[in-house]
Amino acid sequence: MNLEFLAPYFIGPYGENNDVFEKILTELLRDHIYWRRNIHPEDLPAISTFASQSPDYQNAIAKTRSELHKLTADLKQSVPFFSPRYIGHMCSDLFMPGLIAQMVTTLYNPNNVSFEAATVTVNLELEVGKQFATMFGFNTDPEQYPCAWGHLTSGGTVANYESLWNFRAAKYYPVALAETMNSLELDVPNSDILPEDLKQASAWQLINLSIDQVLKLRQETLSFWAEQYPDKMDEIEEHIENQRIEYQGMGLFYANHWKCKQPLVLAPASAHYSWEKAMKVMGFGAAQLVKLPIKSNMRLDTEALDNILANACAKKIPILSCVAIMGTTEFGTIDPIHEVIQLRDKYREKGLDFYVHVDAAWGGYLSSLFRDEDGSTISHREALSMYQYFPSEEVYNSITSVGKVDSVTIDPHKLGYLPFGAGGFIAKNREITKLLTQKAPYVFEEDKKNEATVQFDKLGQYILEGSKPGSMAAASYVTNKVLPLDYKNFGRLIKQTIKTAEYFFDKIHQLKEKLSDKVNICLPYTPDTNLICIAINPIGNRSITYMNEFSNGLYNHLKIQKGIAPKNQRFIGSNTYLLRSNVSDKHASQLCEMLNLDATNFVKHIHNDATESDKVFLLRHTIMNPWLTDTSNGDDYITMYCDYLESLILKQLR
Ligand SMILES: *Cc1c(COP(=O)(O)O)cnc(C)c1O
Repeated sequence: MNLEFLAPYFIGPYGENNDVFEKILTELLRDHIYWRRNIHPEDLPAISTFASQSPDYQNAIAKTRSELHKLTADLKQSVPFFSPRYIGHMCSDLFMPGLIAQMVTTLYNPNNVSFEAATVTVNLELEVGKQFATMFGFNTDPEQYPCAWGHLTSGGTVANYESLWNFRAAKYYPVALAETMNSLELDVPNSDILPEDLKQASAWQLINLSIDQVLKLRQETLSFWAEQYPDKMDEIEEHIENQRIEYQGMGLFYANHWKCKQPLVLAPASAHYSWEKAMKVMGFGAAQLVKLPIKSNMRLDTEALDNILANACAKKIPILSCVAIMGTTEFGTIDPIHEVIQLRDKYREKGLDFYVHVDAAWGGYLSSLFRDEDGSTISHREALSMYQYFPSEEVYNSITSVGKVDSVTIDPHKLGYLPFGAGGFIAKNREITKLLTQKAPYVFEEDKKNEATVQFDKLGQYILEGSKPGSMAAASYVTNKVLPLDYKNFGRLIKQTIKTAEYFFDKIHQLKEKLSDKVNICLPYTPDTNLICIAINPIGNRSITYMNEFSNGLYNHLKIQKGIAPKNQRFIGSNTYLLRSNVSDKHASQLCEMLNLDATNFVKHIHNDATESDKVFLLRHTIMNPWLTDTSNGDDYITMYCDYLESLILKQLR
């Protein structure tokens, strides 16, 4: 594979680009010092040139050096993510333009909580939000409705929390509006948003509106009231706020509006554990998280979803959100987002509405593979021509329909090759922020009539976090400028990860053939993208517990463990388990058949722990390092790894 185009973008496993890295960094460090000096250059230096001669100064610097040396010595025990011998979790070498942007911006220490604390980087963050929104296929032209917006978070976990926070605000807002109308005996405008007008609407109708409808209803009703009751608006607005779930708390709100049952959040069994955390943090309770069945391809089972929705519709159980995963953390698989959207549309017709969130913390950047430079989508046929297997029709249809969902999580610190501390949240309708504003007194000064101009640069008001580094916005912005998020630029980098995974896929099949009289190597599901899991069972063995022990024995040579310096590992991988509780009976028996295991001992709950197992061990490999197959210059690490795995298997069999 020709990877020359990637050469300028990484420091490189050998530090190949050290000259460029050092040169640019030094240049920009010096530039920062010049900047300091040129802020009121007439001021005298605060630190005297003689200060360095004092023993205290000398001691302090010596201490600083000593501690920094200790730190960097200890850091040599770090996991070498940059190395092509690292094929474990979702980390790799870092994208140099972004890395330098982050390091240099830190010197200026902008705080993206608001424009006042980050005169430059807040705007970069909003721009990054637009770049991601465009990549996903959302509208970002304010002249068209709805217009998307996005911002950065500390990671995917917080972005996921934020989706539920946004959704709850929208879901229950109409209830507060109706309550205010009743209590204050207000008239309402004619409207075609609800089947009846606000006066007649049932609680069920009020909590089954789309986000766009909620925001339109709010706009319509508030402007009508502002006209009818100009002197009462302060009272009205305060009343609405006091009726909202965010003000009353869940207990009081549900007690006051007893018809509003607790809402469910639906997410596939393969969902990241942050969803369970999110349910706890939000106070919905983990019990309200419904784990949707997944199929043998490790994708969400939309037939099962259909049944759950039909039941909810019949019994009037409110559903806040359905989460679909674009790139599951454990398996890299892509849920059928297009089918989830079809189901949303189907049940919307029947009066059951819910919001769709795509958790693309891992797979978000895959969208760049199908985006052309002009913003259009490339065809499936064109995409297919660039790969051996990728993308299947389902995967293509799923990824290209993200623009139809309500919000998306993306992690620049995963497939965006940026340092940790960068997640992102993108919402299809930026007006949702009007439901989130923390109305601190100084905000009231804003012109109420002109309320449409949400001041996005007061970022801290619309997001979960407060103070946050502007350096991550700079890193993401510079990255997206150097390599825009389309298939000819950043997508090229992502493309090589898929192609490398395809190469790995073939190599594993060769190994399977080669060792077919000794072990049964199998991929328990066909990979959708660049994450590959492998199951290995010695021939003749039918016990799951023994297979798991055997695989664990292999993994002992591939895992990060206490007492072994990571640099001494030949290769580093990761592992996962296929949990019996997450797969159907049919899938479980298929899996056992594939691996020639005794299916009767594959159980949901272990009773007799000697022979029964509730899980199957898998080696898990994230294929994202840029240099895995660089045969033109360096080594072919994929082949090296397969040879190593073979030797481990043979040794373990002895
Ligand atoms: C990694 C991941 C998360 C969590 O993101 P963090 O950045 O670790 O907080 C959530 N969902 C999915 C699908 C992920 O892969």
